[in-house]
Amino acid sequence: MGWRRVVAFQTRNPMHRAHHELTVRAAREAEAAITAASEAFNAWARLPVPKRGEIVERAADILRAEMDDVARLLTREEGKTFADARGEVYRAYNVLNYTAGQSRRLSGVTIPSELPKNFVYTMRQPLGVVALITPWNFPLAIPTWKLVPALVAGNTVVFKPAEDTPLMAQRFVEILLEAGVPEGVLNLVQGIGEETGAALVRHPDVNLVSFTGSTETGREVAIGCAQRHARVSLEMGGKNPIIVMDDADLDLALEGAVWGAFGTTGQRCTAASRLIVHRQILRQFTDRLVERARQLRLGDGMLPTTDVGPLINEAQLKRVHGYTEIARQEGASILTGGHIYTEGDCARGFFYAPTIFANVSTDMRIAQEEIFGPCPAIIGVNSLPEAIEVANSTKYGLSSAIYTRDVNKAFLAMRDIEAGITYVNSSTIGAEVHLPFGGVKQTGNGHREGSPTVLDIFTEWKTLYIDYSGRLQKAQMDNE
Ligand code: ADP
Repeated sequence: MGWRRVVAFQTRNPMHRAHHELTVRAAREAEAAITAASEAFNAWARLPVPKRGEIVERAADILRAEMDDVARLLTREEGKTFADARGEVYRAYNVLNYTAGQSRRLSGVTIPSELPKNFVYTMRQPLGVVALITPWNFPLAIPTWKLVPALVAGNTVVFKPAEDTPLMAQRFVEILLEAGVPEGVLNLVQGIGEETGAALVRHPDVNLVSFTGSTETGREVAIGCAQRHARVSLEMGGKNPIIVMDDADLDLALEGAVWGAFGTTGQRCTAASRLIVHRQILRQFTDRLVERARQLRLGDGMLPTTDVGPLINEAQLKRVHGYTEIARQEGASILTGGHIYTEGDCARGFFYAPTIFANVSTDMRIAQEEIFGPCPAIIGVNSLPEAIEVANSTKYGLSSAIYTRDVNKAFLAMRDIEAGITYVNSSTIGAEVHLPFGGVKQTGNGHREGSPTVLDIFTEWKTLYIDYSGRLQKAQMDNE
């Protein structure tokens, strides 16, 4: 792949603020990567799909053998706890494994023709060069669930990871190359979003951009692709609700709320950022949640005692703290937290105290905007219809959950919540790789990653008609 020193920018471990120097490719390097991917396409696309799957299977074996090592790197670079990081690496392993299997099932359908001697079927075909632009919060899992199906489907790839997590991206690409992905098929370009990312979006030879990140950047990417009629798949923000009904198992709901809101420091696109609680149990639920939030231990993700790691960077720390200010101005109560956390070693990192906003109404910014930090908003409601109305009151629709023991309420919620994913009696996080993942409304643009549905992003359908009548058969006209 030939790393070339073009620009050096610094990446920081969010816990220790240590500086690494990293060689990155500048925007013009995107051009070279696209050329390499274009040149590699024909040979890669002609390789039998199961052969591509075998390479992916080898990558799964390598990742499995290096699981702890890769998880340590993930924790050091991104900050999430080691247990969490290990879960992410395991998820990436699941994707590799699953997609290797899928390589033997990249099938179309055969359909009866309306003509007497005609054979018709469909097949999937790769798109060509695809660009993948990814965020820092799942620096291994998100690239994996884009990159691996893209490759198995026969595309060649230019991969631009987030600025904050270049090392994880580099390690992942090295694993794939070691497994046998040929030169030029997979090209890593490290660079700034507005330069390198934008260069990929603009380039006429990039046939699809698959993006995960903020809603604002997603809009830019979509506009860029629309200018030249390129395909685009977007996975963006969430303001994911957990509804807790008065008949819920409260202990279970609390576990789910703590994990959903504070797990991964709230930096998941599926994090539970709104807790919509029936007023019958509001007081009890709130008191117990505050108690649980105060017990969470912040610190270095490598320590087994740590429950909550740091935020990714200083800008994010300021942004999250800014929302505490907004909450105050909007008249919400801050029941716990609401400050930058500087005890002990945490003074050297970007830590934010687990925070709970209460007395929140749906029109407040803290009930509408994605914060991406450990600070859920509690909203009281009087009924299930009101809970669902509140749940649906944002522009997002990624994940959602309801805690109830009443099967009728559960089914109404499953039917009426506007979201790509709804959990019953479980938190908003924990997607499995063989199920569709994605959201409605402004969370996405109609695609689903994971499961076989991801192939609809990375392939085109081709329809084939084979006439074995030896004469000109006319569809629709010969049928009379
Ligand atoms: P986040 O707020 O999670 O960092 P962003 O949407 O800013 O999300 O970033 C997600 C990815 O998009 C990153 O890889 C980033 O470098 C890239 N990016 C940022 N701005 C642009 C842009 N204008 N065009 C293309 N990619 C971009």
